[in-house]
Amino acid sequence: MAILIQLTQTRALSFFVLPKQLLSSFRRHRVIRRSMASDQTAADTIQFDFLVIGGGSGGLAGARRAAELGATTAVIESHKLGGTCVNVGCVPKKVMWNAAVHAEYLHDHSDYGFEVDNIRFSWETLKAKRDIYVSHLNHIYRNNLDKAKIQTILGHARFTSGPQPTVEVNGKKYTAPHILIATGGQPTVLSENEVPGANLGITSDGFFELESLPKRSVIVGAGYIAVEMAGILSTLGSKTSLIIRQTGVLRNFDSFVSANCTKELQNSGVDLWRNSHVKSVSKTDKGLLVTLATKDPEKKNEEEKISTIEEVDCLLWAIGRQPNTSGLNIGEMGVTTDDRGHIVVDEFQNTSRQGIYAVGDVCGKALLTPVAIAAGRKLAHRLFEGKKDSKLDYSSIPTVVFSHPPIGTVGLTEEEAIKSRGKENVKIYKTSFTPMYHAITTRKSLCIMKLVCVGKEETVVGLHMQGLGCDEMLQGFAVAIKMGATKSHFDKTIAIHPTSSEEFVTMR
Ligand SMILES: Cc1cc2nc3c(=O)[nH]c(=O)nc-3n(C[C@H](O)[C@H](O)[C@H](O)COP(=O)(O)OP(=O)(O)OC[C@H]3O[C@@H](n4cnc5c(N)ncnc54)[C@H](O)[C@@H]3O)c2cc1C
Repeated sequence: MAILIQLTQTRALSFFVLPKQLLSSFRRHRVIRRSMASDQTAADTIQFDFLVIGGGSGGLAGARRAAELGATTAVIESHKLGGTCVNVGCVPKKVMWNAAVHAEYLHDHSDYGFEVDNIRFSWETLKAKRDIYVSHLNHIYRNNLDKAKIQTILGHARFTSGPQPTVEVNGKKYTAPHILIATGGQPTVLSENEVPGANLGITSDGFFELESLPKRSVIVGAGYIAVEMAGILSTLGSKTSLIIRQTGVLRNFDSFVSANCTKELQNSGVDLWRNSHVKSVSKTDKGLLVTLATKDPEKKNEEEKISTIEEVDCLLWAIGRQPNTSGLNIGEMGVTTDDRGHIVVDEFQNTSRQGIYAVGDVCGKALLTPVAIAAGRKLAHRLFEGKKDSKLDYSSIPTVVFSHPPIGTVGLTEEEAIKSRGKENVKIYKTSFTPMYHAITTRKSLCIMKLVCVGKEETVVGLHMQGLGCDEMLQGFAVAIKMGATKSHFDKTIAIHPTSSEEFVTMR
């Protein structure tokens, strides 16, 4: 009776909307005995309403929402619950960035009148506290699944070759009319053929295993993970070089931000190697020897210049990520992937095989935790609440790069707006200034801001910035942009003084 009351309370809404789905929650863990062909043994296949492969951001969010809506649900996870974000992504990264921000502020203490001598930093203490926090989150995720009566299956999932989509984990078989693939991705690593000695380096996963602060770091890559890791290591005191193939970092971002971020990296002491790539890596008594080739593409007749960086104790490849699809046997299921292995989905997250869906990084679009979460939840509402139109709108997704200072960006870059709307329909407002915080500090860093507006109404379709506090400044502006704010809405908003964000409502 107590159980019945509890179910009635928590699932009252779905009872009225979809009584069938409520009933399905009583069919928990139903075992189907199927007779197999005579040369096969009979197999027990455990049946759920919703089977989720991958207990990361997208999988957990989709599973929990589906369970709330009455679906019997299981999550299969091969490593740690929480996936990339919790274990080797956003969460531990933000802890490290917070530590680096502390280190930056230390430089300003005396300008603000504080005498702080003999400050020592312990990477070991920071790592220990960070690891405890991450394990705590792992436990919370497990408890939340248990509370929601979602079955957690630990192990690697692989589709069997049978006609009905069925997944095998540790020799046991599971099936559901709806199977979600949310297996995320992993850092790309170069082969020994591509770069001899490449395996002497680590990736962002390995960064979180470092037991001490490297003295000499080399980061390879120009994307946001490379920028963030180079910034953290350098700010915490590791001599850091960043190797990029072209002339600037964050090439997919608005050019204003990309150019400023490249400059800020150098201002903060990162040794930037433009037009360069790693040719080989070898081990010496004093650490790694990284050999680089540099060639300016403008100077066609010039020879490639060979240089070396010695005594490197941390070489970190941050050259992209690849989807976790290879061990799933999805080809057999008729699930189409693109040439990089990402699962191809339509706007409703349907794959090419009916009853199999995919969300998050494995689809290769907007690789961000909130995107995976939102897509997983929208899918659950479509499948288990009958909301036929439930799908994620992928436009104007705000994102922050935790560089020094941080970057905030949402919507179209100036280049994209011109391409899609024509130069004559695009109006740009921009500014750059020294935030008041730096008025009395020796250390300086700029704040830059840009608004991209289109049409006669000057609808704001893009907002880009880098500067102190931009990470926390973006979310509210993203709401305004999602609502279709125009430049005149910005102008009508009274400024908050003295802040950096007031510049956005006073631009002319
Ligand atoms: C260094 C770094 C920093 C980041 N910082 C940010 C940030 O600041 N903000 C932000 O929004 N995003 C950030 N991201 C991106 C974010 O972590 C991902 O977009 C997000 O985790 C994607 O969620 P997902 O559910 O698609 O995949 P994941 O979170 O990767 O989860 C996939 C899960 O599936 C499991 N799995 C894979 N294959 C199988 C299998 N065959 N069987 C069973 N389980 C399997 C994996 O073990 C994993 O736990 C960062 C990523 C990295 C690497």
